[in-house]
Amino acid sequence: MTIIRESEAIPVVGSYDVIVCGGGPAGIIAAVAAARNGAKTLLIERYGFVGGMASSALVTPVSEFRIEGKQIIDGMPFELMKRTEALGGAITNLESGNVFIDDEALKLAAQRMLLESCVTLLYHTFIADCVTEEGRVTHVIVQNKAGRTAYGCKAVVDCTGDADIVRAAGFKTTKKETLQPATLWMQLGGVDTDAIKPLFEDAVHGVMPISEEIRGRLGELNKEGKMPIFGGPWISKQFHDGMVTINLLRTGTDASSPEDFTRAECVLREDLFKVIPILRQEFPAFKNCWLAKAGAQAGVRETFRIEGLYELTTDDVLNPKAFPDTVCKGAHVIDIHKPDSIEQVVVVLKKEYNIPYRVLVPKDSVNVITAGRCVCADDAAFGSMRVMACCMAMGQAAGTAAAIAVEKGYAFTEMDTHLLVETLKAQGAVIDFENCEES
Ligand SMILES: Cc1cc2nc3c(=O)[nH]c(=O)nc-3n(C[C@H](O)[C@H](O)[C@H](O)COP(=O)(O)OP(=O)(O)OC[C@H]3O[C@@H](n4cnc5c(N)ncnc54)[C@H](O)[C@@H]3O)c2cc1C
Repeated sequence: MTIIRESEAIPVVGSYDVIVCGGGPAGIIAAVAAARNGAKTLLIERYGFVGGMASSALVTPVSEFRIEGKQIIDGMPFELMKRTEALGGAITNLESGNVFIDDEALKLAAQRMLLESCVTLLYHTFIADCVTEEGRVTHVIVQNKAGRTAYGCKAVVDCTGDADIVRAAGFKTTKKETLQPATLWMQLGGVDTDAIKPLFEDAVHGVMPISEEIRGRLGELNKEGKMPIFGGPWISKQFHDGMVTINLLRTGTDASSPEDFTRAECVLREDLFKVIPILRQEFPAFKNCWLAKAGAQAGVRETFRIEGLYELTTDDVLNPKAFPDTVCKGAHVIDIHKPDSIEQVVVVLKKEYNIPYRVLVPKDSVNVITAGRCVCADDAAFGSMRVMACCMAMGQAAGTAAAIAVEKGYAFTEMDTHLLVETLKAQGAVIDFENCEES
């Protein structure tokens, strides 16, 4: 059954050069980049803070800024890490190139960076739809406590992670039959962190340490039906004695289905209160642990990806190419989690690879570009480039491209990529063709 309502008049309450949809790692940096390059910029976010998975789901290792000692992501993404460090909430000099952050410090550092860059912030607002004219998005429609309103725009950067605007505008997307699982991340206090110190050693080749002892015992309990399905566990020390953050609980779900994601959230909240007594009982270091915080939502690894002007392939990641429109790099292991088992596919990379501008642009798009975990890539390439440093670097590229597109009147499909690349380099992005084949 469908209900047909008479078309409603939606008030237009503002007008911007660039609207960035979603304030996760990609959206924060996209908005900063657009504003610093001269665009009047609005960032719309459904929560009352920015950070995306890093803050709403407590995903606190930010991977990865260096490989083999070489800085591969710098510029605005690394500036955000430094600002977070200045608040006492990041460690930026780890050998692996990962940065561990405190989610609260990240929220504030990012918010300040946005406001100082003259981005207008709109929190507690859900991006509901858009208006298109001749393939161009003219307005983003939102829903919040003020009702349903619209904002005019010249360009949109879709950083919702789920390609919400791309889909609303009618561009093609894909979604796999079986998606990587969602994870409810937790922070525990009262842990004897000295006793599990080796777990806090830095990642080797981008692979975080796992306690085989804890994993083995949890695996046994899982086989006996006493422990829910889990991953890792990956345990990192938080910024205070006795505090750890744990990536452990998971369940298969399609987070783009509200019903199924609700079911997953319900399962994970139940599992959270099952697993803490298990940790207390089984592992002496956790004897006195207590739940400090769980994610405001389960962490989502993937849903929709755009059909872009180019799809980054497994081969592009394993055998890096010198794409002339390279806008940033990635170096994280190919990391694919299974929804129904404790296993995971990991392929370690020895060098960085290049990401071309074209993976950000939906096919046939005039004024919509994307960044973050909804860009165009095959499964294995996505398994590497979905990490947060990479999402932020793509954000810098997309935000800068949006500002250029508005200023010069370009469609995203007609971007002057030479100008884009030179602008990115001048603003700290690392773009070079060391370590790659000719394209
Ligand atoms: C369990 C787990 C472990 C991970 N481990 C790591 C790791 O170790 N290292 C690493 O670097 N990365 C890791 N990742 C990956 C990383 O967190 C994500 O891929 C990354 O955050 C994606 O960034 P994004 O900006 O594209 O999207 P998101 O972080 O998902 O941000 C999207 C933002 O848009 C907002 N939004 C979405 N839709 C709307 C809407 N309609 N209206 C308004 N706002 C909206 C959301 O609230 C959110 O703030 C992990 C992810 C998960 C789930």
